[in-house]
Amino acid sequence: MITSRFAPAPTGYLHLGHVANAIYVWGIARALGGRVLLRIEDHDRQRSRPEFEQAILEDLDWLGFMPDTPPTSAFRHGICEGRQSDRTAIYEGALASLRARGLVYACECSRRDIAAAGSVVDAGETRYPGTCAHKALAEGPGLALRVRLASHVERFVDGRHGPLEQRPSEQCGDLVVRDRDGNWSYQFAVAVDDWRQDVTLVVRGDDVLASTGRQIQLARLLGREVPPRFVHHPLIMKSASQKLSKADNDTSIREQRSAGLTAADVIGRAAHMMGLLNQRQPFAARQVATLEGISRIAARLRRTAP
Ligand code: GLU
Repeated sequence: MITSRFAPAPTGYLHLGHVANAIYVWGIARALGGRVLLRIEDHDRQRSRPEFEQAILEDLDWLGFMPDTPPTSAFRHGICEGRQSDRTAIYEGALASLRARGLVYACECSRRDIAAAGSVVDAGETRYPGTCAHKALAEGPGLALRVRLASHVERFVDGRHGPLEQRPSEQCGDLVVRDRDGNWSYQFAVAVDDWRQDVTLVVRGDDVLASTGRQIQLARLLGREVPPRFVHHPLIMKSASQKLSKADNDTSIREQRSAGLTAADVIGRAAHMMGLLNQRQPFAARQVATLEGISRIAARLRRTAP
């Protein structure tokens, strides 16, 4: 069975951008007869807050987007390993397997060092030039850990964009596994989780499209033979160049709920802003698989199933 996932970070309240993502995640998974896993991505320990996690669970229940596993109640009762902070031993194991193959090294570079030495590539990203790759620094507090990437082109077929290729070693250079504050990196945690949680379909916004080659490559280094399939969907924009953020309170679910909107109003608003509905009208979570833009992507994934 296809397993997709909804993976918010508890660093703020859910907003319309998350609703748009939920429409795609649940819509495509349901259209394909698959299930949805909920994962709380609290790898950034400094910015994550339990009250935001509570709010996410509540907002999902209110919206009617029900994860199949674990249910939101399991998070409330502490009976699941659905948070990244519950999964330290799994990340340690994955890190050990990379280390055993000589792929991990400690890095003492600060952000400023990297900005000064690295080259800026696409989308303003700085490529890490490998300054510490051969210093053989002893691992320890205050140092990041990186994994050596091969100069390899990653090819994948996105369910909306079609065939794509990315070369992570050129985009970002050797990837951070654990940062200087001791946090597992987004790329590493997600690659490990999607693999170990048997996620076979990743549906997320275009803002993380550049991460996909990295996560495919990391997962392969860890031993995942078949990568998940990917769909990257458009984002709801605040303006032509600015995406919505958690700071835009007028679009938070809480704000809209207290202004008197129903769950169907909020979902319909997001679907309309994404061009999935021609007009703004209430739309229930349980119906999202029937949206034409969603069933078209599901049909393409079905047709091109490996
Ligand atoms: N935790 C990420 C976010 O909140 C999810 C990115 C992903 O789905 O890989 O945007």
